[in-house]
Amino acid sequence: MCAKLEQQQAHQITYEGLLKGNKDWVAATLKEDPQFFDRLSAGQAPPVLWIGCSDSRVPANQITNTMPGDIFVHRNIANVVTHTDMNLLSVLDYSVNVLKIKHIIVCGHYGCGGVNAALGDKQVGLIDNWLRNIKDVIRMHEREMSTIKDPQKRSDRLVELNAIESAANVMSTSIVQNAWASGQELSVHAWVYSLKTGLITDLQVSASNSDELSPVFKMKA
Ligand SMILES: [Zn+2]
Repeated sequence: MCAKLEQQQAHQITYEGLLKGNKDWVAATLKEDPQFFDRLSAGQAPPVLWIGCSDSRVPANQITNTMPGDIFVHRNIANVVTHTDMNLLSVLDYSVNVLKIKHIIVCGHYGCGGVNAALGDKQVGLIDNWLRNIKDVIRMHEREMSTIKDPQKRSDRLVELNAIESAANVMSTSIVQNAWASGQELSVHAWVYSLKTGLITDLQVSASNSDELSPVFKMKA
């Protein structure tokens, strides 16, 4: 998107406009489906947990053509999964043990500002400590990353590796391992979304049991 268009678009969004937008959406939704809110207000049973980036251009529902009620969502900068993040662990625990979701999808996106910042050495602020988790991903894949010289390709590959490592971190939680040990149907996936095409690529690291988990992370109940 060119800078001018971006400015125009940002300019059009006003505080009042958001509230008007809500009213318009309700009217259009009810016109299409008069029972929509009655049905949704009765409860939720989403089959999917989405762990994605906070980036405004990667909204889980729109890019998967799904509706409210379909996806339980957790988003943070650069879709990082760490085992000390109580927010993420609470979302994970609730979605696996209460909602009984069937799929956990970690979705990164090319052109991720958080990933690009982690590739650089410029201090941004508090967020540097959060992005340090992505520097760990660079360190873990140093051999491969050192062979990629082109900055665009380095960024794209790190986006993929970061999503894969985040998915691996989901798999190694006690929450997911206990669900698998009890025979619960649950798959973990890593995806990457292209801002340029709108298309999602499955990074083919899906797991639905602990067989592929590194022995170092395997826990006994
Ligand atoms: Zn991002």
